[in-house]
Amino acid sequence: MADTIKIVCANCGREVDTPRCDTDPPNAVRLEGVWCPDCDNGGFDMPDFFDADGNWLEPTAGFISDRMSKYSLINKEPKP
Ligand SMILES: [Zn+2]
Repeated sequence: MADTIKIVCANCGREVDTPRCDTDPPNAVRLEGVWCPDCDNGGFDMPDFFDADGNWLEPTAGFISDRMSKYSLINKEPKP
C-alpha cells in the first residue's frame, strides 16, 4: 500500500500527492473531484476515490474533515 494518495484537481487537473488518511478507503490510490490548494474554493464537491485498477470506491464517513486538515497543512507551506 502506498503511503500517499494522489489528488487530481477538478479545476486545473493538477495532481498532488498527499499523505494517506485513516479514513481513506484502503485500496484507494486516487481521489478526484476536489480542488487543489491553488484552486481551493473552500469546499469539497462530490469527491470520488479510485483504486489502482480505476474502480470507483465508496468514500468512508469522516474523510472530508481529514482531507481538510491535510490541505490546511499544504496551504501553510510558503509559496515562492
Ligand atoms: Zn487546481
